[in-house]
Amino acid sequence: MPAKPDSGLCDQCRHQRLVPNTRGSVFSLCERSRTDPRFPRYPPIPVLSCPGFEPAAQVPGPEPRR
Ligand code: SF4
Repeated sequence: MPAKPDSGLCDQCRHQRLVPNTRGSVFSLCERSRTDPRFPRYPPIPVLSCPGFEPAAQVPGPEPRR
């Protein structure tokens, strides 16, 4: 699995999609770019602030031990 880039804020954003290429790199694509021209398809990373940021849904972790 290719190394994931440090994309800053995008890494916690629901609009991020990670796109691997054939050379083993992974790029952080902004899905908002599809519908809003203010957002570049591949924003320069790490993104430190963004008006389009929305937190990604939390992935449930393992059940705590009882
Ligand atoms: S909306 Fe902003 S923070 Fe979210 S993926 Fe796009 S550029 Fe990154």
